[in-house]
Amino acid sequence: MGVFDIKALLITALIFVPIERLFGLRPGQKIFRKAFFNDLIYALFNGAPIALGLIAVVTLSTSTLGRLVPDYVGRAVSSQPIWLQVMETIVIADICFYFAHRAFHAVPFLWRFHAIHHSIEELDWLAGHRIHPIDQILTKGASFVPLYLLGFSNESIAIFAFIFHAHALLLHANVKLNVGPLRWLIASPQFHHWHHARARAAYDKNFAGQLAFIDMLFGTMHLPADTVPERYGVDDPIPQTYIEQLAYPLIPRGKTNETPATRDA
Ligand SMILES: [Zn+2]
Ligand SMILES: [Zn+2]
Repeated sequence: MGVFDIKALLITALIFVPIERLFGLRPGQKIFRKAFFNDLIYALFNGAPIALGLIAVVTLSTSTLGRLVPDYVGRAVSSQPIWLQVMETIVIADICFYFAHRAFHAVPFLWRFHAIHHSIEELDWLAGHRIHPIDQILTKGASFVPLYLLGFSNESIAIFAFIFHAHALLLHANVKLNVGPLRWLIASPQFHHWHHARARAAYDKNFAGQLAFIDMLFGTMHLPADTVPERYGVDDPIPQTYIEQLAYPLIPRGKTNETPATRDA
């Protein structure tokens, strides 16, 4: 989402608010819930620093590492049909996203950035925008840089970026969506809601952004039957406002930088 992209945000709201009203996982949850306005600030203003940071990361990586990939690789990759390229971008990007996301959970300094996203206590499409820009720049960078290095066409990367964004909104949405056996293959709202659960059994599980089977491959899947978590959030002392949340990971605070492995359920 670009700078002050109110039009895109309105369209997104027009799609997701009715879906959440009709198929709500928690029908009692209000539209104007706790932290609604703070998450709205993220949706409106966070896109600009993320876009700038991502352009810097992609430009720097492709100009330094680009020479490592022979030209014929790029020619072969970009000459494939678009639909095949898009499928490949999803698989490659999500494997890279998986490890970047896992690192944000495992390394205490990185967790302080990622804890902002996990501070969401009422999940919906808007809450999904609450991500520290450094967190989003690095995890999205991990997804996108390999695609540019391997030479995927700009069209296929643009289609991938759209699918990635729409999927991320859906994962956080307050919706009950039964995808049947596909839930073992594709990341569903249930899958990602468990990633946000404030329950010890679910800590450090379901890292994939789009393909749930990656978690199955690496033994980090937690998808118990048709259940959803009782509550979401973290015990870390996350402040309430956008500016304070941006500053939070950078302010030294001694022993309070808990990781999911040490926090209490
Ligand atoms: Zn996470
Ligand atoms: Zn999330």
